[in-house]
Amino acid sequence: MRTAMSLIVTAAVVCAITAAIVFAAIWGVRAIGARMERASGGANAEADASENPPRGEEATETEAGAPPSEHAHFLDLYYCEEDRLERYLDYEAAHPELSPEEVVWRVDVDIDKPFYENAVELELECARSEQALVSKRFKLPDDFEPAELAQIDGDYRVTPATKEAYERLREGAKAAGHSIRAASAYRTIEYQKNLYARYLNEDPNNADNYSARPGFSEHHTGRAIDLVGPSGTLRGFVGTKEAEWVRENAWNYGFIVRYTPENEEITGYESEPWHITYIGREAAALMRENGIGSLEEYVAKYVLHLPPQ
Ligand SMILES: [Zn+2]
Repeated sequence: MRTAMSLIVTAAVVCAITAAIVFAAIWGVRAIGARMERASGGANAEADASENPPRGEEATETEAGAPPSEHAHFLDLYYCEEDRLERYLDYEAAHPELSPEEVVWRVDVDIDKPFYENAVELELECARSEQALVSKRFKLPDDFEPAELAQIDGDYRVTPATKEAYERLREGAKAAGHSIRAASAYRTIEYQKNLYARYLNEDPNNADNYSARPGFSEHHTGRAIDLVGPSGTLRGFVGTKEAEWVRENAWNYGFIVRYTPENEEITGYESEPWHITYIGREAAALMRENGIGSLEEYVAKYVLHLPPQ
């Protein structure tokens, strides 16, 4: 994946197209490759189904170009990646409650890997794109800085696009009778280093559930904002009408609530109704329309791979 990302980003620079589009184009080709292989090996795949070959013979089957039948339910998906077939199977075995769709998109964004283990380091162009996935498995480059930052609510800084969207969001909230403001936004890696070290010292067993390690924090992208309401505190925002309004309306301004009670297993963070991330209105609307509950799922289905037209 690291190699693929490097290639993709190199292509992005050369072609001067956005990283997201090039991502999708190249990864899309890989997905199409998987579908073509399935089509050409269809007869063999059916024959395999009746014979049910033992797991030990898989490598030979794959090398011969005929996908083993036990992968057939993954290969139908446009975001299936051939080189992850074994990982899909392993993850499915460990999570029998998940559908093939849920298995494949999760593994596509490394949900099967332990937090912080061999995390993929994003290339600069990718890290600066609006839908960059920064998580416990996707890290920012060590020397990363947003291209540009602008001030909001006095002391806080975000990317210019985030600022514009945030100010509209705040006005929208105001028009609906809610007062919200930023309590945290862009953070330097140095700041995050100190913050995480403090939490780790105070709460060694739980700090990772709510604080990102330096280089893994969305706040460093300049697209994440922590909101507060009249209480002035993050915890005081939980369960308020302001939080409810943000949950229902943030998408209309291009934001998502990044850490929800429903996606804790995916993100590895406890729910944070105050933490919103700017991903652009089109992406946020698409997530809402399709019931996509995490940036991870969106990236697997709409950035790393493009849906068939
Ligand atoms: Zn936050």
